[in-house]
Amino acid sequence: MPVNKEAYQQISAALRSENIVLVAVAKTKPVSDIQELYDAGQRDFGENYVQELVDKEARLPKDIRWHFIGHLQSNKVKNIASFVHLVHGVDSLKLLKEINKQAAGNNHVIKCLLQVHIAQEETKFGFNEEELEELLKVDSNTVSELENVELAGLMGMASFTDDLTKVRNEFQYLNKLFRKYSQRPAAGYKFTTLSMGMSGDYKIAIEEGTTLVRIGSLLFGERNYKE
Ligand SMILES: *Cc1c(COP(=O)(O)O)cnc(C)c1O
Repeated sequence: MPVNKEAYQQISAALRSENIVLVAVAKTKPVSDIQELYDAGQRDFGENYVQELVDKEARLPKDIRWHFIGHLQSNKVKNIASFVHLVHGVDSLKLLKEINKQAAGNNHVIKCLLQVHIAQEETKFGFNEEELEELLKVDSNTVSELENVELAGLMGMASFTDDLTKVRNEFQYLNKLFRKYSQRPAAGYKFTTLSMGMSGDYKIAIEEGTTLVRIGSLLFGERNYKE
């Protein structure tokens, strides 16, 4: 399927007018598709698989901002640490510590989002509210000691359902948590990014205050498998 440039122009213009970042999710799609959107002006691209990201990064322009949006295994962090722009799905302290270590080894700071489990499906990864509070509580030094990660906000995926009220409620819940920590003055993190909304629900996410959407199939066409 060809890249849908018309959809890209419309969506990116609408998002730009609201200061929302568009991450074009290119998993399973060829380098040529990414190049096409790059030539149309897109710079933020998202990938789910480490090896695929490493291969694509090597073959595409260096000013692309690569977002890792999949489930990152600790032992793979080292493969992307030198170039990744933002890691969206951090769902354990163990992973955060490994990212910190690899970032230190590369002498830089890696921006991360904590994934929050907002959907009802069992399979979606992420922290729950209590675990998040445990990690981010004011008197905890855990996070501020990780000098090579910058905790920049939260990420979540709504339930895969036609029930739009449910999706909206899940986004509202995530934004409530985001605001809570954005407003909390604390050492170690400064929340600026709320990553929520995909092809099927990004309009609801915009209404519910997202700052970044991750859109794949609307731009690149359907993938040959379902996540
Ligand atoms: C695949 C994926 C997307 C994009 O999904 P579309 O429905 O194709 O827009 C967004 N976020 C994550 C985490 C994904 O895995």
